[in-house]
Amino acid sequence: MTTNAVHWFPAYIGLGSNLNGPARQLESAFDRLAEIPKTRLLCQSSLYRSAPFGGVEQPNFVNAAAVLLTRLPAVDLLRELQRIEKQCGRKPGKVRWGPRVLDLDLLVYSDQRIDDPGLIVPHPGIAERNFVLLPLQEIAPGLSVPGLGLVKRIRANLNEPEISCIG
Ligand code: ADP
Ligand code: MG
Repeated sequence: MTTNAVHWFPAYIGLGSNLNGPARQLESAFDRLAEIPKTRLLCQSSLYRSAPFGGVEQPNFVNAAAVLLTRLPAVDLLRELQRIEKQCGRKPGKVRWGPRVLDLDLLVYSDQRIDDPGLIVPHPGIAERNFVLLPLQEIAPGLSVPGLGLVKRIRANLNEPEISCIG
């Protein structure tokens, strides 16, 4: 007997915006995540406000996280995230960690570790950024990040200023 098993993979997404009505941008991004082919939006976090990272003078960010279940390979999922960033008006930035209308990062994809030129998973910024860890902890405290361990433990070890939940 042949079986056509369909594999669904959990994928954790970090969202951020600090231009053009950031909270509205993230709400619209959640809707678009739900429409990615072969993918379901399982859960979305509250929105959090955070100070900009990296020393560039710019507006505060609004951040959030989402859990997807997807049948797309990680590289195809990243392509979908980049398509959404573009549709929402993201322009190629000149400044690293500069202002952006929408940033969608693939934080974790199942138990995979990927180190390709255009895709690193788990996302290399996870362990250093409260604005990633706090929303992620809200929706997945027991998630074990490959190579790093439990989200709530990574977060407990991070000595960074608190960020505020804005609902
Ligand atoms: P950051 O999100 O660290 O502020 P950018 O969004 O400007 O930086 O970075 C985008 C680049 O990062 C893209 O070229 C993309 O190919 C690459 N990249 C590598 N790994 C990932 C990942 N896990 N999620 C999102 N982008 C990634
Ligand atoms: Mg990004």
